[in-house]
Amino acid sequence: MTSDTRTGERTALRTATKAARVETPIALTRRARRINRELAELYPDARCELVYRTPLELLVATVLSAKCTDQRVNLVTPELFATYPDARAYAEADRAELENIIRSTGFFRAKADALLGIGAALFERFDSEVPRRLEHLLTLPGVGRKTANVVLGNAFGIPGITVDTHVGRLARRLGWTQEDDPVRVESALAALLERKEWTPVSHRLIFHGRRACFARRPACGACQIRQSCPSNGIGEQDPEIAQGMIDRVVPGDVSGR
Ligand code: SF4
Repeated sequence: MTSDTRTGERTALRTATKAARVETPIALTRRARRINRELAELYPDARCELVYRTPLELLVATVLSAKCTDQRVNLVTPELFATYPDARAYAEADRAELENIIRSTGFFRAKADALLGIGAALFERFDSEVPRRLEHLLTLPGVGRKTANVVLGNAFGIPGITVDTHVGRLARRLGWTQEDDPVRVESALAALLERKEWTPVSHRLIFHGRRACFARRPACGACQIRQSCPSNGIGEQDPEIAQGMIDRVVPGDVSGR
């Protein structure tokens, strides 16, 4: 992160904090829900961009998506899923072979550790099924709240807020919270939004973060929710240049969780 980026981020947070100070809790809730509705119109197809067919495949793909694009993960998983069809197959996997398949997703040794451990834990403790409860998912190696909420929300339809880098950044820029800690961000968003919105709002914020509200220089001048955003103006303000930034985004070729 450059010093310009840090300065911009600090300005955004100051602006959002100032806005939050003069906004009553009810007004904040109304604004958050209005932004969520605007994002729903803007991204009607917002969804998990990982390709999977089963809860286990989603769990594995989500582990691989750490510090990696979803597009890259989706290139790797067909071979991975064909080679390891169930929890036992991961538990008994040959480490070198597993590492070789997932190498291009980065941090492949740590990810292989997680997949071997998850396979063993599911096989030994959960009858080879991915558990449907947060507290059980959190006992799996390499699985934190972010991964657990992705699985709950998308594989089981159990509402969960996924606080990845995009959701955290946007929640702060939008003035929904000033917290940095992902668990606190999750709590703040859970209090602002209806439970049924928890999973879809996570997708919408991630879509907006990947397509317009970029980490380094957000495309404020062409942002569809700028009227409701207290950080409007921290990024590119020229509408044409900002629209060009948005148009350059290649679907799927965006940073992962
Ligand atoms: S891109 Fe939109 S949401 Fe992001 S800071 Fe700018 S106005 Fe706000």
